[in-house]
Amino acid sequence: MTKSTVTQQELSASERDAPIYNSFSELSDHGFSLAPGICVFIASVHLAALVLGIWLYSAAPSAWMWAGTAWLVAHFLLGSLSTTLYSHRLITHNAVKHVSLPVHLFFNVFGQIFSVQGSVRRWSANHALHHGVDRHGKKELDPYSATWFPDSLRNFLWSHTLTHLYNHPESEEYQRSHNAKRHPVIMWQDRWYGLLTTFWIFFFPMGLGYAMGGFLGMFALTAGSMLGTVAVQHNTWTVNSVTHLWGFTPGVKSSATNNYIWLGPLGEGNHHGDHHDFPRDFRNGFGLSGWLLDPTRYGILALNALGLVRGLNSASKHEEAEIIAQRKLAELNLFKPITREAAVLREQLEKTALTLKNEWVEALAHVEKLKQQSKLLERARAGREELMRDMELAQHAVAKRKEAFYDAVERLRKHSEVYA
Ligand SMILES: [Zn+2]
Ligand SMILES: [Zn+2]
Repeated sequence: MTKSTVTQQELSASERDAPIYNSFSELSDHGFSLAPGICVFIASVHLAALVLGIWLYSAAPSAWMWAGTAWLVAHFLLGSLSTTLYSHRLITHNAVKHVSLPVHLFFNVFGQIFSVQGSVRRWSANHALHHGVDRHGKKELDPYSATWFPDSLRNFLWSHTLTHLYNHPESEEYQRSHNAKRHPVIMWQDRWYGLLTTFWIFFFPMGLGYAMGGFLGMFALTAGSMLGTVAVQHNTWTVNSVTHLWGFTPGVKSSATNNYIWLGPLGEGNHHGDHHDFPRDFRNGFGLSGWLLDPTRYGILALNALGLVRGLNSASKHEEAEIIAQRKLAELNLFKPITREAAVLREQLEKTALTLKNEWVEALAHVEKLKQQSKLLERARAGREELMRDMELAQHAVAKRKEAFYDAVERLRKHSEVYA
């Protein structure tokens, strides 16, 4: 049986999520090759985290165990927030209209290095390709796809980690995305990314630890740094794996779902379906649950309050309603009617549902327009009141100056009478 065309997106969800490869071994025939440098780096960091982690929690003195743990937590939070707030929302998705220089400097020279996932430029290029599939449907271009393979295990392994270990074929879209010009500070970070990572992830914790407590301190903070690196990497990778494989409310455009329980990547894990349906939004998630489960938006709101970013983008109420209505229709999972009468009736019901959906969205858009006009009028009224106050002051100034002038004339008259 085939699915009905009730909301007819270009493809139904099952067509969109159909596998394109049977196993990892097929990848080499399609231009993929293992990236030895990245494989060695990721394996070494994981091994170092394991060995130093065992030492930190079984043999290190208690004070140094806590110091290493504090470093781990700080690294984890800074790296996670830098990815969600800066690389993801502000840079890849232009969630605000203006990002100030101090924000670029803070995240490129310092914060984002702690996510240990490649430069901001490279990260944004890959993430743009991940979303591109929602527009053009070429899912072979999505570097983190969780729907390339026929089973969940392969899809999980690929989208979560394996994708990062491969060189991907350089299609036209790949080139365009990776060669896109970014802010000069981002271009600078891309150039010096290796050195910056070596400094903040290795040399800085090692040096600081050594200065604080010799070799014991050096090992403790390096353990915190390695464990923090592994934790922040897996935390962020779950957005590509978990939220595209499992969840409660499917989005319309992609395989992403809303989770409501996965706070891990500081907001990105919970409403990934909402995010794919309206990526430019500075928020991740509509409605109250978005407020409750999206800490990153508080960071953006704080930067906005401080004047460090300006012009927040978000879906309007009628754009949210359009997305929610499309989901409702997509959820119906209707099958082709068997009789002609049933088919005619189905068509009529579909038409009615679509018309009512459009009327609902239009009514909301109308309310929003009226609210906008009312705001403009309020502003005009406030402006008029200010104008009236200025006018009163100006009239008062005229009277005072006139009086002063007449006083001066009077003094002159008296002066000429005395000395005439
Ligand atoms: Zn996604
Ligand atoms: Zn995104």
